[in-house]
Amino acid sequence: MTNSLNVGIIGAGIQGISNALFLQKKGFNVTIFDRDNPGSPAASYGNAGHFSPYASLSLNRTDVLADVPAMLLSSTGPLALKWNYVPKMIPWFLKFISNTSKKKMMHTARNMHQILDLALPAYDELFDEINLDGLVEKKGILYIWNNQDLKSRELEINVRKELGVEQQLVNKSEIHDLEPNIKPFYHAGVYYPYARHARNPKKILLKFFELFIKKGGKFERRNINDIQFDTEKPIIISDDKRYHFDKIVIACGAFSKILTDNLDERIPLDTERGYHVHFKNCDHLLNRPVIFSNRGFGITPMEQGLRVVGTVEFGGLRNPLSKSRIKNLINNAKYMLGDLPEHEDEWLGFRPTLPDFLPVMGPSKNHKNVFYCFGHHHLGWTLGPISGKIVSGMIAKENTNLNLDPYSSKRFN
Ligand SMILES: Cc1cc2nc3c(=O)[nH]c(=O)nc-3n(C[C@H](O)[C@H](O)[C@H](O)COP(=O)(O)OP(=O)(O)OC[C@H]3O[C@@H](n4cnc5c(N)ncnc54)[C@H](O)[C@@H]3O)c2cc1C
Repeated sequence: MTNSLNVGIIGAGIQGISNALFLQKKGFNVTIFDRDNPGSPAASYGNAGHFSPYASLSLNRTDVLADVPAMLLSSTGPLALKWNYVPKMIPWFLKFISNTSKKKMMHTARNMHQILDLALPAYDELFDEINLDGLVEKKGILYIWNNQDLKSRELEINVRKELGVEQQLVNKSEIHDLEPNIKPFYHAGVYYPYARHARNPKKILLKFFELFIKKGGKFERRNINDIQFDTEKPIIISDDKRYHFDKIVIACGAFSKILTDNLDERIPLDTERGYHVHFKNCDHLLNRPVIFSNRGFGITPMEQGLRVVGTVEFGGLRNPLSKSRIKNLINNAKYMLGDLPEHEDEWLGFRPTLPDFLPVMGPSKNHKNVFYCFGHHHLGWTLGPISGKIVSGMIAKENTNLNLDPYSSKRFN
């Protein structure tokens, strides 16, 4: 197919670059804008690298509110608050609470499942065009837990069963066979053999970006302040320049709200802050990503060493990194694996999250030539290519069998 239209994309994370590559496949001329170079320490750089098509059940679940006080009080727990941000986040929290009924939980789970199920084939379409050089491992992903948490694990297992998600329950000795270096504190777990992990998300992103440039894509390193319009055609506004396009895509992750507010839409996007550290030269200790569900953290073997990832911290985009969360990750890693060398690379990243835990994909409410692709919370790395495929299909006005209404920004208006 050939399309001579010019499309501007704001954001060079996995969402922006995936949109660009699928738009190029359909013949559009594409320019990407980012205030940093691609591969900069945004969420798409520092994530846990899981390709997790099974993860349909999100944080808006029926049991979450009962668990929150204990999680907040626990020094080893996954949840944290920056108290100065709590007043700003109250409207988000109220919307979140209204999304924890069984009906809303299942609405999110079904509509996450719809796109997660297509996530790996969409990646493979892009992987076919680059040399992966061993950057993706197909050894599955393992979750483990101990007794006290069994009830909430049952909820997850049942929802996945209802959705038809393939899962393999594993006992203590099977976990030991899969990961002999983990200390035997666990009771049971679940293994997703078809899940994959990235050995280095940044390198994969850069390979996609190189492909984009090779296919004639343009990149402008600019901070974008605003979108204006020449009749209906969008103009991207940076500090010193104006760029005219036929269509644009806003894919700025957790920072997208700054631009959508200017477009007069009230999209309740906020962030769940997350952290990582690396233990260099230790990646041989694990064969695959392992997540300890009780403490809500995971460890992924990567080129940089073991990447220890976790925490959901509510604190906005401006607060500094919390040293206590870094300490927490280090202690948790040692709890799982015993002695480890000094850690490196303390990183804070911003998951873009809506209170119903569904992404926003589709045209803006007020401007038919402005498209959104953000809000993929814990799953934006997994969902990059499928989201790019979906949004590029909308821009090209293609028919689809998918029900895309649940992802529309109109649900908030
Ligand atoms: C700790 C942690 C672990 C995670 N682990 C996983 C995982 O294992 N698997 C998974 O599927 N997902 C995971 N995620 C989620 C995933 O990383 C994100 O959902 C995803 O990376 C979001 O991609 P994005 O392209 O929307 O945003 P980003 O990666 O944040 O990219 C947005 C880009 O927009 C640019 N930008 C923003 N505003 C402007 C502006 N005004 N002008 C110009 N440029 C702008 C930024 O510089 C940035 O490059 C994790 C996230 C975190 C924080």
